[in-house]
Amino acid sequence: MATAWDYAPAPESRDIVRIQERYGLFIGGKFVEPLSGERYTTIDPAREEPLSEVAQANKADVDRAVKAARGAFDGQWSKLRPSERAKYLFRIARILQERAREFAVLESLNGGKPIRESRDVDIPLAAAHFFYYAGWADKLEYAFPNRKPRPIGVAAQIIPWNFPLLMLAWKIAPALAAGNTVVLKPAETTPLSALLFCDVLRQAELPPGVVNIITGDGRTGAEMVAHAGVDKVAFTGSTEVGKAIQRTLAGTGKRLTLELGGKAANIIFDDAPLDQAVEGIINGIYFNQGHVCCAGSRLLVQESIYEATIAKLKRRMRTLRVGDPLDKNTDVGAINSKQQLDKIASLVQSGVDEGAEIYQPPCKLPERGYWFVPTVFTNVAQSYRIAQEEIFGPVLSVLTFRTPDEAIEKANNTPYGLSAGVWTEKGSRILAMAQRLRAGVIWANTYNRFDPASPFGGYKESGFGREGGRHGLEAYVALDDA
Ligand code: NDP
Repeated sequence: MATAWDYAPAPESRDIVRIQERYGLFIGGKFVEPLSGERYTTIDPAREEPLSEVAQANKADVDRAVKAARGAFDGQWSKLRPSERAKYLFRIARILQERAREFAVLESLNGGKPIRESRDVDIPLAAAHFFYYAGWADKLEYAFPNRKPRPIGVAAQIIPWNFPLLMLAWKIAPALAAGNTVVLKPAETTPLSALLFCDVLRQAELPPGVVNIITGDGRTGAEMVAHAGVDKVAFTGSTEVGKAIQRTLAGTGKRLTLELGGKAANIIFDDAPLDQAVEGIINGIYFNQGHVCCAGSRLLVQESIYEATIAKLKRRMRTLRVGDPLDKNTDVGAINSKQQLDKIASLVQSGVDEGAEIYQPPCKLPERGYWFVPTVFTNVAQSYRIAQEEIFGPVLSVLTFRTPDEAIEKANNTPYGLSAGVWTEKGSRILAMAQRLRAGVIWANTYNRFDPASPFGGYKESGFGREGGRHGLEAYVALDDA
């Protein structure tokens, strides 16, 4: 007699997306051959199968893209009536909604994230960002009262592989709303949704050169940062590269915003609704395979409820379904790249070597592709690498505390300061904790919730500047006296 019900496979069809065999660079409103003459293969990390050949832009390509953006800025775009700019942003949002399924499938194919997440989170939020900033385009004087906002020029935008289309939206929407033009580079491993987005731009009839999308690896990013024709750099990625960019830009007068790594504390007090908190812990660290800068990767549990929390957590972990990202029942998809998988495996090994206790639920992984079983470490000392370094994978480190003061001290004991979570039934405690936690975003009795109207960004080595909300516009305007 069956003792458990198995899920039948429920794969989303990939037929809705047409991936080209090769792509050029989107410059001046059309795809052009890369001057570099170089291309590389982008793959499906869940199957280790090639998907397409994309261009590796070199210095000359970057120069061409920046010139196209400058031409569009000096020409029509910066002088366009703000309400006209808004129309383009509204159009882009509508088209993204209309083509949401296509984008969701492509995002999961190229990045490895579960279709449930790309369908329900990434793509709707990307569209919502364009809607939100479309609304600001003709109201900038209200966003900055008593000042005269004007666009700053050409923005070079470099984004990572964990939320490709969403990060594109976070970058492009406020830049255009404020009247700037853009050269954007998606990450090396996940270029395809940005390349499909070029089709959306054509459909929306955005004037040529306002948005240019170029592909390539870190060398392309470095050329963009160094280009003299760029007025502003917006970067999301690792702290190491963020520091290198800051060094390059020192003394140039170019504007810079950095959204870097994190090692967030998710803090559970003994009066928290435990079942809800366990869902929040799972969502905090296993959402998008833990490839999330604000992931709740350090769990801080009050000592009196430690045993009960860990027992519930392990039970819940045993129900997580790891596998095909295109299956609608999948909770945890593929790791984005071999390189990232190796990094996760090596940090997990360091946790074992340093003496932490590892738990991984029984789990059958597909034979091909890059996978990592959801993992939790208990018996973790604060000095361990798994408690200090950003793993950027489905790995949780558990620490305990007795008092709120101890929780604060441990939570803030990190070079990062991007996000945190607090679980308690007392509103006063939430407010008291939020005031003392050094983190840009603090969730109370929830985790990993995003809204275009809410600013996002960090302190310390998590970067500076805010994206989202009215604050997100600030990076893209020069403010003159009214
Ligand atoms: P990177 O910081 O290397 O990548 C982010 C973006 O920057 C990519 O588009 C990358 O291009 C580009 N880039 C790389 N080198 C340079 C450079 N010298 N100048 C300008 N741009 C550059 O992150 P990784 O992909 O290497 O990931 C490494 C670690 O970074 C992860 O394990 C994670 O800890 C952290 N990370 C944090 C993210 C966050 O959201 N805060 C996002 C991604 C990573 P390319 O992809 O082609 O190398």
